[in-house]
Amino acid sequence: MHMTYRFFGKGFEFFEEGQEPKLSHKHQLKNVNFANYWKQNAGARIIVAGALNKEGIKNPAKAKRQILEQLEYINNFAAENSDHFAVAKTPVQLRGLVATTDKTIIVHSVEGARRLVNSQADADFWAEQGVAFMTLIHLRDTELGSSAVKPGFMMKLINLPGALKKQENRVGLTELGKQTISWLACAGIMTDITHMSDQCRNDALDYMEQNGIPPISTHDLYRPIQNHPRGLSRQQIIRIYKNKGFVSLPISGESLMPYKPESYYQNLIDTLSNHCVGSIDSYQLTYQEVKNLIESNYAEILGSKASNFSELSDAEKVCLSIGFQSDFNGWLNHSRPRYGKQGCFELEEGQHYEPIEIDGMPHPAYLESHWNYLENHGVDLQPVKRNAERFAQLWERFRSQGCR
Ligand SMILES: [Zn+2]
Repeated sequence: MHMTYRFFGKGFEFFEEGQEPKLSHKHQLKNVNFANYWKQNAGARIIVAGALNKEGIKNPAKAKRQILEQLEYINNFAAENSDHFAVAKTPVQLRGLVATTDKTIIVHSVEGARRLVNSQADADFWAEQGVAFMTLIHLRDTELGSSAVKPGFMMKLINLPGALKKQENRVGLTELGKQTISWLACAGIMTDITHMSDQCRNDALDYMEQNGIPPISTHDLYRPIQNHPRGLSRQQIIRIYKNKGFVSLPISGESLMPYKPESYYQNLIDTLSNHCVGSIDSYQLTYQEVKNLIESNYAEILGSKASNFSELSDAEKVCLSIGFQSDFNGWLNHSRPRYGKQGCFELEEGQHYEPIEIDGMPHPAYLESHWNYLENHGVDLQPVKRNAERFAQLWERFRSQGCR
């Protein structure tokens, strides 16, 4: 949602039929998140809309007002277009909508909790608004903890104090950050540890483990391939699952481009003749490696005595699911094509191609093609398909467990 950044336009809306804007996969700073594309989108049934404040927000009343404005926009939009859209404010509503309608279901979240949760009553208020999870930290170090500084001039500029400090001198998760995680859990809201610095993430994992609060990471990367502060290490991923949480991976091939990868991955990419860096191939590689990591560690994660992964029950496999994250709100480019001028290979006549191979991912309607391509290339998407159930289960657990 973009009320805080009005240059993106009004927000989630329809373009008039026949007036479709010309879009490419290079759409940074352009909103491609048109409702037309989500209507009956075979590639995604349940979507999460993240409300966002300006990074430097200081005034709690203003912070609250601006998030409320965004939640209300979505609520009104769904009410006005109720043939196709519905908001689920509780896990019970979510399951009801899945079972009885074919609508696209929207769940609320908040990215960046700065100044929003100053007491248990505040956390309860956000739960009443239907917020399922909050991403505690965003792009800057705050009173809650420190943020991962991704390589690149802009990211350093946004979080200058964090970028200038020696890593070992940075605070991790503050006492207020810990308190906030507990307030949120008491209210039935999950904490998303995405965007945290390494130290903050480890502190959060320690604190959540000690307090029996499952962590989720909705759009961080995989350190062995994306070797920068936004990458989760193998051990961090295993800890998240051991503590009954899950990770979701960005689907954008650009976000998942290798960055100083382990030499094994660099060699692999160099020797694959049909691999196009920055396309869906970057998602495929990262997803498969994260999936292998999780599934090969099922015994440690679940405490299972099964002799191999396939012997696990469906319920156990659900606990090992992997979500996906799109970020179509205009801050990111998405996967580039595999073929043609913007891609890596020449198109060959008479060949059948998926739209995502020729156009990349210009907008959300291409999600279906994204999954089709992977399935046709033998990628096991069961962990992605199981993730909606896992999300609902965790939300239920938080809602029913309350304070601990
Ligand atoms: Zn983010």
